[in-house]
Amino acid sequence: MKFIEYGESEVCQEIENMGLPKFRGKQIFDAMVNGLNLDEITVFSQDFKQKIASFYPKNKIYQKFVSKDGTKKYLIQFEDGAICECVLMSYKYGNTLCLSTQIGCRMGCKFCASTLNGLERNLTAGEMLDEIYLINRDNGGSRKNRVITNLVLMGSGEPLDNFDNVCRFLEMISSTESLNISMRNISLSTCGLVDRIIELANKNYGISLTISLHATTDEERKKIMPIANKWSINEILQACDYYFAKTGRRFYIEYTLVKGINDSDLDAKRLAELLKGKTCHVNLIMLNPVAERNLHSTARKNAEEFCKKLISFGVSATIRRSMGQDISGACGQLRNKFVRKKV
Ligand code: SAH
Repeated sequence: MKFIEYGESEVCQEIENMGLPKFRGKQIFDAMVNGLNLDEITVFSQDFKQKIASFYPKNKIYQKFVSKDGTKKYLIQFEDGAICECVLMSYKYGNTLCLSTQIGCRMGCKFCASTLNGLERNLTAGEMLDEIYLINRDNGGSRKNRVITNLVLMGSGEPLDNFDNVCRFLEMISSTESLNISMRNISLSTCGLVDRIIELANKNYGISLTISLHATTDEERKKIMPIANKWSINEILQACDYYFAKTGRRFYIEYTLVKGINDSDLDAKRLAELLKGKTCHVNLIMLNPVAERNLHSTARKNAEEFCKKLISFGVSATIRRSMGQDISGACGQLRNKFVRKKV
């Protein structure tokens, strides 16, 4: 049993089953949520630590990069040596952590670095929790005093391709025994797995849904996102309507502007037509070019024009502020620079 995968009462039960005092289970759970490693727990004897060592998490911060603007990029290393990326961004209203849901990704989007080597494996619910626990602690936070207030599932991986683990994770992180992060402060981003969007809507968690659209016709979308061969833009938008009807949450569209691919006046017009009458907001993103791919970002001026056009058609839209540019390559690129190491 890996303690990090379970709730407090289950950990206490397991400790009792091992013939150890139940209150130790509470202490173990407390230490995990506080992001402590086993060596740092002062209330346990060496003998006790040995007894629980194989069940206690050994994930760690492998490396950390701090930007001039305060953004922090973390590489988290899991017990099998796999590494993922997380980014902590500070805003006036709190701190948002962008976390990973898979090691690698099998969606194959042409502009994205996370998918270059395909999917290595899913992350477990406990591993996703530990990304947060470790980074919360690194920023002076604890179980009682959480520093991370908002979460976006927008790191490497496709969260809806790891559906059960992600759901378990969402339920755990929002519980009062964990960091009690409100579902309303959590956002999940997907390239558009329609059947799973429906399932997620039915869960009615109240998290925000973000769709990575990046094109205005299925034909163009297929050129940059293989998932477009499975689901059409219309099917995705219908699923978003269902999500809105079920949860009352407006949804978000992410649209990364790629020079000469999806950034024309006609694209702005078509995007506005697609979204007409829908309760949503468009986040325009400047492409962060990936060295291995031959795609370029739209000029800033063109992005501003594109944004103005959308607004003139009655669509709510903004250009996403880029943070931490001095410490990162494109999404997923940082991790790719590090060789997978065995611990
Ligand atoms: N798989 C999910 C979540 C991870 S990607 C999804 O597709 O939404 C998070 C966001 O970053 C997506 O909108 C994705 O399209 C965008 N993204 C990926 N690579 C990028 C790059 N090189 N430049 C800008 N945005 C990128």
